[in-house]
Amino acid sequence: MPLVPMRQILDEAAKKGYGVPHFNVNNMEQAQAIMRGAEEVESPVIMAASKGALKYSDMLFLRNIMNACVERYPKIPIALHLDHGTNVEICKTAIDLGFSSVMMDGSLEEDGKTPRSYDDNIAVTREVVNFAHPLGITVEGELGCLGGIEDGIGSGEEKLTNPDQVKEFVEKTKVDALAVSIGTSHGAYKFKIQPDPDKNLLAMNIIRRIHELCPNLHMVMHGSSSVPQELIAQINQYGGDIKETYGVPLWAIKEGIAAGVRKVNVDTDLRLAVTATIRKIFHDDPEAFDPRKYLGPARDAMKTIIIERYNTFGSAGHAYDYEPKTLEDMKIFYEESELQSSR
Ligand SMILES: [Zn+2]
Repeated sequence: MPLVPMRQILDEAAKKGYGVPHFNVNNMEQAQAIMRGAEEVESPVIMAASKGALKYSDMLFLRNIMNACVERYPKIPIALHLDHGTNVEICKTAIDLGFSSVMMDGSLEEDGKTPRSYDDNIAVTREVVNFAHPLGITVEGELGCLGGIEDGIGSGEEKLTNPDQVKEFVEKTKVDALAVSIGTSHGAYKFKIQPDPDKNLLAMNIIRRIHELCPNLHMVMHGSSSVPQELIAQINQYGGDIKETYGVPLWAIKEGIAAGVRKVNVDTDLRLAVTATIRKIFHDDPEAFDPRKYLGPARDAMKTIIIERYNTFGSAGHAYDYEPKTLEDMKIFYEESELQSSR
């Protein structure tokens, strides 16, 4: 099976009311952990590469790791998504590489730092949709600005999404999915105190309002690692120095999914799992020097987190629910919806 359009994976998730984790990928072990976990619990897969991942992997290596995933797991629907494209060119590059989905983060200027005006966001996102949809490629946009900085992306200043702008934004840009800012942030440092289930941690009212106004829009929660405390403790026990920090608890993510979120971006948790595992092995066995002896267990530790997310977000068990669509199918789908909207 070739890569599947992300739009289909999200449409199917919406039909049955579950969420799909988006995992960032940079190397072979991460990709294997994501796929092994997906096979074990039968989940569809969204793998994402950022500009940083493309640079780190020299592009070609990442593309061929993806090809290997498709070849090794032919029955599992896999979408390959560009995370935080900052300009039209990078989106085009990803599509040329064979990605089935791109994010045009028009909430920020090309530097990935300065907030972009609402009108410019519409213009640049629409430009990406205009060339992506005729190729059957899914497009995610972003409205509002997330807090935190990751891979050099982020203004460091948070601006929650205004639900009243969303309908117009979606109508004008025709995006398939939209990243919303509701109080999550990128990176490991999200909340300074332990989140309290009795207090409003995230702006769920924004999610609910957007879902009312645009029931067919797939909302995306970025910066949604849960920062497991046992991993932080393990890193620090074996020589690390991660300051006190809390992530987005799984209960808050489940609330978001119940209110209409379909894609939940997780990156930090896998980084923490790798680091915690390797630190412990280096401590326990100072003579170890075969990378397979620590990268293998690190891969297993990632898989444990990955399976937990597939189960909690609800995508487990849904890999074989549907016949995967091709980009050709999606071309026709977009052509028809353009025709309908022009009538
Ligand atoms: Zn993000």
